[in-house]
Amino acid sequence: MKKINKNLTPEENHVLFEKGTEIPFTGKLLHNNEKGNYACKNCGAELFSSDAKFDSGTGWPSFDDATNVKLKEDNSGGMKRTEVLCKNCGAHLGHLFNDGPTENNNRYCINSICLDFKRN
Ligand SMILES: [Zn+2]
Repeated sequence: MKKINKNLTPEENHVLFEKGTEIPFTGKLLHNNEKGNYACKNCGAELFSSDAKFDSGTGWPSFDDATNVKLKEDNSGGMKRTEVLCKNCGAHLGHLFNDGPTENNNRYCINSICLDFKRN
């Protein structure tokens, strides 16, 4: 994991590099419905398309598809979960669950604070 963005806030550092979780319903991209791409706040790699975004009601931005991510088994906190990491820089993004609303069942539950939005 390499720190590329030197201008991250303490909260961004905590979530991206210490696997923190932002408080639900606080992320500024939660209700963003503009067309574009969501990129890693650390390295700028494009991770999610606005076409994959949906409202899961959980309080975190949710997507049913991703690019440039890698998945890792996460058994922290007594829960068996799948961690979602940026494939380029290894920063923590969130978790993947299999109860999504579309046919692939994917629900990428991602911290808004880990993402930068780029308009198409
Ligand atoms: Zn990255």
